[in-house]
Amino acid sequence: MNIDHTNAPLDAAQSVLSFAQLGLNAELQSSAAQAGFTSPTPVQVEAIGHVLNSRDVLATAQTGSGKTAAYVLPVLQLLMATAASRDEAADPRNAKTKRITQVLVLVPTRELATQVSDVLRDLARPLAQSIKVGTLFGGVSINPQMMSLRSGADVVVATPGRLLDIVDHNALSLSQVQHLVLDEADRLLDLGFAEELQRILALLPAKRQNLLFSATFEPAVQTLAEALLSNPARITIAQTEAHTPDIAQRAIQVDEKSRTALLRHLIKTHSWKRVLVFVATRYACEHVANKLYKAGVFATAFHGEMSQGARQDVLAEFKEERWEVVVTTDLAARGIDIAQLPVVVNYDLPRSATDYTHRIGRTGRAGAHGEAVSFITAATLAHWQLIQKRAQVQLPLEVLEGFELTELPPPASPLNDGTGGIKGARPSKKDKLRAAAAAKAEQEKQVSKP
Ligand code: AMP
Repeated sequence: MNIDHTNAPLDAAQSVLSFAQLGLNAELQSSAAQAGFTSPTPVQVEAIGHVLNSRDVLATAQTGSGKTAAYVLPVLQLLMATAASRDEAADPRNAKTKRITQVLVLVPTRELATQVSDVLRDLARPLAQSIKVGTLFGGVSINPQMMSLRSGADVVVATPGRLLDIVDHNALSLSQVQHLVLDEADRLLDLGFAEELQRILALLPAKRQNLLFSATFEPAVQTLAEALLSNPARITIAQTEAHTPDIAQRAIQVDEKSRTALLRHLIKTHSWKRVLVFVATRYACEHVANKLYKAGVFATAFHGEMSQGARQDVLAEFKEERWEVVVTTDLAARGIDIAQLPVVVNYDLPRSATDYTHRIGRTGRAGAHGEAVSFITAATLAHWQLIQKRAQVQLPLEVLEGFELTELPPPASPLNDGTGGIKGARPSKKDKLRAAAAAKAEQEKQVSKP
C-alpha cells in the first residue's frame, strides 16, 4: 500500500503543535511530510510525546483519526537510536548481523497486519538507518514468513495465532521486545484472543512499554487493559464536532425480503461507485453478492472462509474500483483503510453498538465525507433502538416510496426478548470469563512487581 499523498491533514486546524514541537526528529518530520502528513492529528498530538518518553499509553480515538502514525512515528524514533548503534557496530565482514526484535505490534486481522506494516515501511523508508519490518499472519504458507525472519526483524507486526506458530518453530524470539503495541486493543483483549494473548505476554520481558490503541474500549475489556498497563498516559479524543468523522448516518425501514432490491435502488439513484455492505454470515456474503451480480451490479464477497490470496485480491480490486460492491462480515469492520470509501451499508445490523461504530468507521476517513446506511426490518427494530441508545445516535427512520413495510415484527417469545441479541444487557458467561481473566492478569502483575 502506498500512503495516500492527497490526504488533507486531519483536523489540521485543531493542531496547535507541530511534529517538531512534539519532539519528533527532523528525519521523521520529513518522512511524515513525504507521506502527506503536514501537521499532527489530535491523537498524534496527545500520544507522540508520551511514547517518546517511554510512558505506557491507553488511547481511545475514533476510526480514521490517524492512530497508526500516532504510535508508528515515535516508535520509529525510539528504534532509530538502537539501529544507529547497531549499524555502526556491524562487522563489514559479517553483513548478516541478526536484528533483534524490539517492537511487537499485535493486530486482530491479517489485513490490518499488512496495512500497519505498509505504514511502518513507508515511514521508515526515507530514514538513514535501515529498519526491517516482519509481517506475520495466518492463512498463507508459514515458510516464506519464517525465511523473512532469518536475519531478524526490528519490528514485527503480527496476528496472535501465526506469531505463536512462528515462535513455536523457533524462528523468532520475543525475549528482547521493549515496546508492545496492541492495535484495535479491545478486540485483542476480547475473549477470542485471550488465551493466545496470555501466551504471548508470557514470552515478553516484564519490563517493557505497552501502547494500547482502539476506537472503542467496552467497560468489560477496560479492566483487562488496566492490568496490562503501568501508570499509563490516558488519551481520549473527545467526540467533539470537529473531531467526529464526517459520516452522514441514515436508517431506512424495509421488509427483510426487499433489502437487495432496496440496495440496488440506492446504488442506482445515488450512482454509488464503491459500497461496502455488511451482512451477518459468510453464507449471506455469497448469497447477497450473487444476487447483486446476477442483477448487473459488480458485486463480490469478502469473508474469512476465502483464501488469503483471494481476500487480498478483492481488497486491491475494490480499491481500484473494479468492484462496485463488496459484501462482507465483521471481518472487514476493523482497521481496514480503503481510501475514499464513500458508502457503508448495514444490510444486516451489527450485533453491538461497538461493532456499529467500527463498521461505519470504514467510511469518512482522513477528513473525507462518508455515508452509512442501515436497513431496519420489523424484526430488528428493537435491536436497532438499543444500538442507537448505546452509540448515542438518534436517527429518523426513513420510509422510501415502493419499500413501505408489509412484514410484522415476530411475536414476543423467550428467544426473542426484543434486544435482538445485543451484547451487554447483563453479564454474560463471556463477561464473567473476562472478569476472571482480568483478575488473574492483575494477580500476575502484582507477583511480577519487584
Ligand atoms: P488511521 O486512523 O491510522 O487508520 O489513519 C487514517 C488515515 O489518516 C490514513 O489514510 C492515514 O494515511 C491518514 N493520516 C494519518 N495521519 C495523518 C496526518 N497527520 N495528516 C494527514 N493524514 C493523516
